[in-house]
Amino acid sequence: MNLATWVERNGRRLRDRPALAVGEEVHGTWEVTAARVAALAGGLRDRFGLVPGDRVAIVMANRPEYLEAQFAAWHAGLVAVPVNARLHREEVAYVLEHSGTAAVVTDDEHADLVGPLVDRLDGLRAVVVAPGPEWDGLAASTPIALSDRGSDDAAWLFYTSGTTGRPKGATLTHGNLLMASLSYFADIGPVGDRDSVLHAAPLSHGSGLYGLPHVAKGAVSVFPSSGALDGAELAALVRRWPGLSFFAAPIMVKRLAADPALAGADLSGLKTVIYGGAPMYLADLEEALATFGPRLAQIYGQGETPMTITALSLADHAETDHPRWRERMQGVGFPRTDVEVRVADADDRPLPPGEAGEVLVRGPVVMAGYWDQEEESAETLRGGWLHTGDVGSLDDDGYLTLHDRSKDLIISGGMNIYPREVEEALMTHPGVQAVAVVGRPDPEWGESVVAFVVLGGDGSGPSAEDLDRTCLERIARFKRPKQYHLVEALPTNNYGKVLKRELRTWLEEGRVPDQR
Ligand code: AMP
Repeated sequence: MNLATWVERNGRRLRDRPALAVGEEVHGTWEVTAARVAALAGGLRDRFGLVPGDRVAIVMANRPEYLEAQFAAWHAGLVAVPVNARLHREEVAYVLEHSGTAAVVTDDEHADLVGPLVDRLDGLRAVVVAPGPEWDGLAASTPIALSDRGSDDAAWLFYTSGTTGRPKGATLTHGNLLMASLSYFADIGPVGDRDSVLHAAPLSHGSGLYGLPHVAKGAVSVFPSSGALDGAELAALVRRWPGLSFFAAPIMVKRLAADPALAGADLSGLKTVIYGGAPMYLADLEEALATFGPRLAQIYGQGETPMTITALSLADHAETDHPRWRERMQGVGFPRTDVEVRVADADDRPLPPGEAGEVLVRGPVVMAGYWDQEEESAETLRGGWLHTGDVGSLDDDGYLTLHDRSKDLIISGGMNIYPREVEEALMTHPGVQAVAVVGRPDPEWGESVVAFVVLGGDGSGPSAEDLDRTCLERIARFKRPKQYHLVEALPTNNYGKVLKRELRTWLEEGRVPDQR
């Protein structure tokens, strides 16, 4: 089934009811949105000579045109490549090139980032700016019929950052995304056509995925009119669009929970705050429950199994008299209805409750593989199980707790940062001999990036400013280290592998052997 079927059907049934809204204003009804999607699909196909299976990337801030582009691509049988709009141009270029993207839909804000790539990338035929005359021109094209798509056809290439430093495109099919949506109804809650979903977090990630079950049932997709949602705006939107749910990283939930504008505000119209993507600390969760009431649900997932491994349901959060409540709230919840979850040893043998091992997942929501990366796909999906790279343990009741992220992923402000990428950037500086990057707990950002640097030559080498500049030339601003420690040597084991755990201990114990 083609997921764009939902938009077409809503256009017929819900007609003048709102589909898209910016702040408190309706941006488009279902009838108008469905008609625009069918016409934009025609425009994309005819104007740029695209055929089903071709890739269309979306590099833009959250705005109604984002969903128009995504559903138009699907309507036309194209594969959407939602790109994190905060990436560095070189990172965007890699994703576009690797996915063989033929056209990009972007906005004014990101046009300078993407525009110059048309001349550089062979396969890239067009960059269209939306909203604006170009987008309206496409929307005036002759509408086309909904393309026939099966469950195994690719719908969304979800680019994660790779441990090798190269992002990998998890190929999510129409079937995967349908399953993720059905599993939302099964484990998070039902959605109705009088409900709404607020896109406060990037649509290229959790917010986009959790938007889907809402589109499926005809709820209105609401875009905050300010760039950064605050308590006052949230309170106003909850009043205007009751039945409102939104996805947010724990850091954002923490910020909103502490916003005085929400203290005592009428939140009766707030349905669910879905948080996940990074650890939520119990103290922060208790504060969030005090502000939002029993409206919180946690999810644990990854791009490879879109937002679907386990969940701590609304009911789990509300069951405060359960003897294991505190323990459960520090975990990531119970396996989702549509997946098998296993904790396994290094040979993929299931481990008993209480023992820590890698989290493995199997089910119809798991990606088809990584786009154009057969070896990595075979390795990650070996034995028919998705190997998440996360280390966790199950308790006697079957609830999962995550202990560590075996891939050394750093999560800062809800954004994933792989140390290897930062290390690769720093290593390009001629004065740097060796480097290791780790995350340090940070009360504001969850974690912040710290680099341990061994200088080459006479050690007079680069300053922190020089290193910063080197990073900014190669990677997104949010990935660069907040702190540099110059060290004589990095701690290594017998195999010469850097002991990152040791580096974290140095930081924890404040015994960083800094030379400057
Ligand atoms: P991504 O593919 O960008 O969604 O990142 C997925 C990774 O984020 C997972 O493999 C986990 O390491 C981490 N993660 C996701 N959800 C949670 C959660 N609820 N608690 C802790 N870590 C999480």
